[in-house]
Amino acid sequence: MSNSEQQQQQKGRRRKRDDKVVRVTKMAPPPPTPIQDIEDIASSFSEDETQKLRVALLNWYDINRRDLPWRRLNHEGSEEEVERRAYAVWVSEVMLQQTRVQTVISYYNRWMEKWPTIDKLAQASLEEVNEMWAGLGYYRRARFLLEGAKKIVAEEGRIPKVASLLRKIPGIGDYTAGAIASIAFKEVVPVVDGNVVRVIARLKAISANPKDSSTIKRFWKLAAQLVDPLRPGDFNQALMELGATVCTPVNPSCSLCPATESCHALSISRHDNSVAVTDYPIKVVKAKQRHDFSAVCVVELLGAEKMPEGNQSSSRFILVKRPDEGLLAGLWEFPSVSLDGEVNSSTRREKMNRFLKRVFKIDTRKTCSIVLREDIGEFTHIFSHIRLKLYVELLVLHLKEGEKDDLLKSEDSETTTWKCVDGDVLSSTGLTTSVRKVYSMVQKFKERSFPSKQIPAGKRSRMAKKT
Ligand code: SF4
Repeated sequence: MSNSEQQQQQKGRRRKRDDKVVRVTKMAPPPPTPIQDIEDIASSFSEDETQKLRVALLNWYDINRRDLPWRRLNHEGSEEEVERRAYAVWVSEVMLQQTRVQTVISYYNRWMEKWPTIDKLAQASLEEVNEMWAGLGYYRRARFLLEGAKKIVAEEGRIPKVASLLRKIPGIGDYTAGAIASIAFKEVVPVVDGNVVRVIARLKAISANPKDSSTIKRFWKLAAQLVDPLRPGDFNQALMELGATVCTPVNPSCSLCPATESCHALSISRHDNSVAVTDYPIKVVKAKQRHDFSAVCVVELLGAEKMPEGNQSSSRFILVKRPDEGLLAGLWEFPSVSLDGEVNSSTRREKMNRFLKRVFKIDTRKTCSIVLREDIGEFTHIFSHIRLKLYVELLVLHLKEGEKDDLLKSEDSETTTWKCVDGDVLSSTGLTTSVRKVYSMVQKFKERSFPSKQIPAGKRSRMAKKT
C-alpha cells in the first residue's frame, strides 16, 4: 500500500470515528438549560413579547370585559367627572380586596347612592360607614377609606393624580394607588394583585415563592414593563380580568386565553406531562391560624311582655362596642367574653355573669328575674389569621321594678361603650357577619321553641332554675 493510500485509509477511519462521535452527540438528550438562562427569561419581557401581550390583552378586554358599575363612569369628561371616577375606582378597589365581585356590586351601589362624592363621604361618621360595610369583612378598610376621604377634603380638596402622592393617603397602598392613578388619571403605572401575580407567574413560568419580597418586586417590575403607555388603566384591568375570569387558580381556560403564544407555563406543560400550568405560582403554606374561644350572651330585656317569643316591639337587646383598636375595631356586638379554651357551659356562664354584673350591674340573682336562659349553639368564625369559636346563649330578663334606673349603669361604663336597641332596629341595622349569625340563631331558636307563642309555665321555671 502506497503512502498516499495509507493516508487515505487513516483519514477514512478517522472520519468514521468522527461520524460515530457526531451521531452519538446527535442522539444524546439536549444538555439541561442552565439555570441562569431560565432566570433571564423570567426577569423581563422582550420588546416583541411586550408588544404582542399589550395588543392581545387589550383586544381581548375590549370584547370580554365585564360590565361593572364602577366601569360605567365617564373616562374623559370634566375635572369633576374624572374626580368622581377616581373616587369610584377607589371605593370599588378597596371593596374588591378579599371580596368577590358579585358580592361587591350591591355594596358599591348602596355606598355610591349614599355618598356619591368624596365630599359627601368625608361628612360621614365611622358608625355610618361601618354599618354600610357590615358583612364585607376586613373593617379596617372601611375606616381607612373614611379617614382618607377626610384627609383629602381637609388638605387638598382633590384626589391626588399620581401614585406617589396617592400612597400618602391612609389605607392606600401600592396596589390601590396604581389602580386609581392608571384607571382614573391614565398614569402609566402597574398594579399587582393576586390575579396579576398568577398570570405573570404563568406567563414567565416563575416558580419562586410569590410571597417573598424579592419575588414581589420582580412581579412589579414585570408588570411595569407590560403596561400599555396609551391605555394604562385598561391594560391593568385587562391583566386583572384575565386572572379573574380565564387564568383562574384551578382549571384555567387556556384554550380561551389571548396570551397562549407568550405563556411559558403552557409551553412547558405541553412538553412535559409532569408539569401543569397550575404549578405556577407555587402554593405557599399558610401560617397556622390562631384558635380563639368566646362566649356570647344575647341579653334580651323584656318590656311589657312576659314571653320572649318572636320579635317583640318592646323587647330590647344590649350591644357593646368593641375597642377602637384590634380585631373588628369600633364595631357593635352582643356582650361577649373571651375564654381560655373549650370550657363547659357552667364555666362560661360564671364568666359571663361576672361581666354582666361589672359592666351593666345585671345580677342574675338579685337585680332581675330570668325568664329564660339557654345555650343555643356554637359556630366557628374564620378571620384571616384566627379561627374564633363562639358559644352562644340567650338570656331573657325582666328588670325588677326599682332596679331599672340603676341597672345598666356602672363604673365600667366609661371604658365600655354599649347601647340598648329595639329588636326591630336590630333586624334592620348593619351588623357584622358573625353578629348577624348570632342573631339569626336566636330567631331560629325562638321559632323552634315557641311556635305557639307561649312557654309552658313548667318549662319557664325549669329554664330559670338552670342558671
Ligand atoms: S395560557 Fe393558560 S396559563 Fe397561560 S396565561 Fe393563558 S390561561 Fe394562564
